[in-house]
Amino acid sequence: MSETIIFWHRRDLRLSDNVGLAKARQKTAHLVGVFCLDPNILDRDDVAPARVKYMLGCLRELQESYAQAGSQLLILNDEPSQAIATLARALQAKAVYWNLDVEPYSQQRDKTVCDALEESGIEVQTFWDRLLHEPAEIRTGSGTPYSVYTPFWKNWNRHQKAEPKPRVKDMIPLSEEQQQAAVESGAIALPTLDELGFSWDNELLLEPGETAAREKLEEFCDRAIYEYDELRNFPAVDGTSGLSAALKFGAVGIRRVWAQTCTAWEQCRSDETRKSVQTWRQELAWREFYQHALYHYPALAEGPYRDLWKDFPWENNQEHFQAWCEGRTGYPIVDAAMRQLNQTGWMHNRCRMIVASFLTKDLIINWQWGEKYFMQKLYDGDLAANNGGWQWSASSGMDPKPLRIFNPTTQGQKFDPEGEYIRQWVPELRSLDTEVLMSGKIPPSDRQQCEYPAPIVDHKQQQRRFKALYQQQKNLS
Ligand SMILES: Cc1cc2nc3c(=O)[nH]c(=O)nc-3n(C[C@H](O)[C@H](O)[C@H](O)COP(=O)(O)OP(=O)(O)OC[C@H]3O[C@@H](n4cnc5c(N)ncnc54)[C@H](O)[C@@H]3O)c2cc1C
Repeated sequence: MSETIIFWHRRDLRLSDNVGLAKARQKTAHLVGVFCLDPNILDRDDVAPARVKYMLGCLRELQESYAQAGSQLLILNDEPSQAIATLARALQAKAVYWNLDVEPYSQQRDKTVCDALEESGIEVQTFWDRLLHEPAEIRTGSGTPYSVYTPFWKNWNRHQKAEPKPRVKDMIPLSEEQQQAAVESGAIALPTLDELGFSWDNELLLEPGETAAREKLEEFCDRAIYEYDELRNFPAVDGTSGLSAALKFGAVGIRRVWAQTCTAWEQCRSDETRKSVQTWRQELAWREFYQHALYHYPALAEGPYRDLWKDFPWENNQEHFQAWCEGRTGYPIVDAAMRQLNQTGWMHNRCRMIVASFLTKDLIINWQWGEKYFMQKLYDGDLAANNGGWQWSASSGMDPKPLRIFNPTTQGQKFDPEGEYIRQWVPELRSLDTEVLMSGKIPPSDRQQCEYPAPIVDHKQQQRRFKALYQQQKNLS
């Protein structure tokens, strides 16, 4: 058996601030990275091409980083349950290390890989890396997981946060025999997006890779973080970090992100700026809240948390769903948001809430249809955050507020008062007077002239229908 340790990258596509990788490097310099293009994930019908493009870009940079640090990142294109153990045996590796994940599939996959490795006498070491606090660490007074965010945040915020881990360097490459063995056991060159069968020509909001993620984090924490509390709800303004894809794929380490908020905090000279930094930290806590929730309640991935919603009589009108997907519902803010999603693979958080409320409460369509469509488009698409966001919007999740219904017109008036965002994404409405555009009553003649559709449903009427269905369901349960 060689001294070699394999580090299996999954959602931690970086050399800096990587808990498991840093531990492996402490053990040995004979370290090689591996990433598995998992067909169980890539062959699903909810994979966004933009997301795959971002991931491949991160992998490309990671390969270069490994080369600069003296080693390499191997790429496998097979089921991890077989591919990882085959590679480890071929390299006569001493151990395989990886960072843990909260998703139900990942947990089951990891168990299979772990069993296969241990059967071959290869050591397995796992670590928590993508969370500031692992799921077992944040519990209620009675030792149960939290199901409500605010007390979770209070507890989570009180805990000491770890420092970023040092960047891994000075590795020793595989021997020539090991190189040969790696190729024979399935290591391939990194494929292109096209070769993987996906296509996405539009630019991504954030360039893939560790360098771009770090620069974005620094840029955000130098400036926009101080105004986050005020600007984060306005989709026409660049007021949020844009780091979601980097956090999803681990192009940036969460301890590094936290440390940057601490530096920003020290620069604060007013209560307003401190409040802004704190509000951004609360978003990081939402991210962890949903990951803990999925870890503790894997059934969330399959359907509603609350029983009342299990047999909800959704109307599921296919034509309405299609109009929602394509951004032609006749509600300008909804259409702008859906077109932003379709064209960029990203949508502003305020708009995610508006379109999710519209799909579930106005169109009375099962939130799981929306959840899947988002996964098919979002380049930051993440099971825990997306499921959490959809269940929150549909009222089927852990949030204690029973019915949250957004009025698309007043949401537009409040958060896009000049219609800038709407005009950016719905160009046919650009020439309309702002008052008319934002009134919620664009006259039929103007709609016709702009070739913009009439509203597919009436908000007030649908709100009544939805509430009646909800009441009926409540009476039954
Ligand atoms: C219906 C719906 C679906 C969503 N789907 C996803 C998804 O698939 N992937 C995803 O990362 N986020 C999702 N979100 C949360 C949120 O909209 C995005 O994280 C955010 O818009 C990303 O932009 P940003 O990086 O500029 O965020 P910022 O405002 O800068 O926030 C910083 C980081 O905190 C995390 N975060 C912020 N808000 C939330 C939240 N409500 N829930 C969980 N984490 C949060 C993200 O990692 C984000 O990058 C969803 C929200 C809703 C309402």
